[in-house]
Amino acid sequence: MKTYYPTIGLEIHAELATASKMFCGCKNDPDETRPNVNICPVCMAHPGTLPVANKNAIKKVIQVGLALDSTIADFSEFDRKNYFYPDIPKGYQISQYKYPIVSGGALNNFKITRIHLEEDTGLSKHDRGDFTLVDYNRAGVPLMELVTEPVIHSAQDAANFARELQLLLRTLGVSEANLEKGEMRVEPNISLSDDPNKFGTKVEVKNLNSFKSVEKAIEYELARMQALYEAGRQDEIVQETRGWDENKQTTFSQRSKENANDYRYFPDPDLPKMKLHSAFDLEQMKKELPELPWQTRERFKKEIKNPELVEIFVQDRARKELFEATPTKHPELKANYIVSSVAGADIGKTDVATFGKAIDMIGDGQVTSTAGKTLIAEIIQNGGDPETIHGLY
Ligand code: ADP
Ligand code: ZN
Ligand code: MG
Repeated sequence: MKTYYPTIGLEIHAELATASKMFCGCKNDPDETRPNVNICPVCMAHPGTLPVANKNAIKKVIQVGLALDSTIADFSEFDRKNYFYPDIPKGYQISQYKYPIVSGGALNNFKITRIHLEEDTGLSKHDRGDFTLVDYNRAGVPLMELVTEPVIHSAQDAANFARELQLLLRTLGVSEANLEKGEMRVEPNISLSDDPNKFGTKVEVKNLNSFKSVEKAIEYELARMQALYEAGRQDEIVQETRGWDENKQTTFSQRSKENANDYRYFPDPDLPKMKLHSAFDLEQMKKELPELPWQTRERFKKEIKNPELVEIFVQDRARKELFEATPTKHPELKANYIVSSVAGADIGKTDVATFGKAIDMIGDGQVTSTAGKTLIAEIIQNGGDPETIHGLY
């Protein structure tokens, strides 16, 4: 058996949760269902209109960079990325090329190349018959793009990177980052080599709308490439963009990859250059960051031994808050009861003082664990004093 070396680099887009769009005053509302209501002459590229950058979007990208211990550029600018497609009204997308806002840093120990800010495109609907409809509500919505170095070596690590980024974006309030809603889009670049000292030819996979699909698509691509190597047909691995067919659970060739030259990038003359170190108080912003997911994880690990249980509290804000609000001497037991006995809908209405007291009674051995389950259920449903209730059994 020959050894093969998989390499993965991720490109991840996330729509920023700002009130307005990136370069105009239109509402940024991912939940708007009526097409083409959040549009104006600027985002529809009427002649004579000028873009004005949304400072809050820039701030959100900087927050992500600060959380990842990245370098925040002092000088930054916007560039035009030229291409023609019905969903980009101007015939170019405003993006960043040479001077991204953020560079370096790491997440899950995987190195980040850069994070830049751009505008989203409109949304084409091809599923209505012999024609295409375009909804421009999304055109001009602020979009961050994070690019990793080619340093990930398994499908699972790649998906976990994306999961951790989603959690970070939600913790920071930067993006809702739902994959199913297209608020976060993960595009893995994948290659396989039979030589540990050099990379194979990479393909990029698009249209992945769940973490599971990210994992499956990478596994599928690596298996496809390995089969080609083993058949002596590795020259058939070409640099291209592939789509993911969710029904067939396979990838398919979409188009050969364009390179940066094709886009004729150049600085957008309609937008001012940015001096970020004077426009933002970076030290203050760093101080104001909330507790980050990996910090929460470390804090919970000190109180809860079971790592799967810890992860539930790291991922689920409501359960985390219930844990923190419930006073008891028995944190592990508290964690167990919150996960096993408190339904999502009951989290907010649980009386934490009596809930904590009931947990103490169980933890101190005053109540058996079987009776304890009933007691906890009663407290959660109807409240009341645990000692009185327990006296009834
Ligand atoms: P391109 O110019 O084709 O867009 P980039 O150098 O910008 O390529 O890289 C895009 C993404 O592809 C990055 O996430 C990078 O880490 C990843 N990447 C680059 N080379 C490889 C490779 N051989 N295998 C897997 N991923 C790669
Ligand atoms: Zn607009
Ligand atoms: Mg690129």
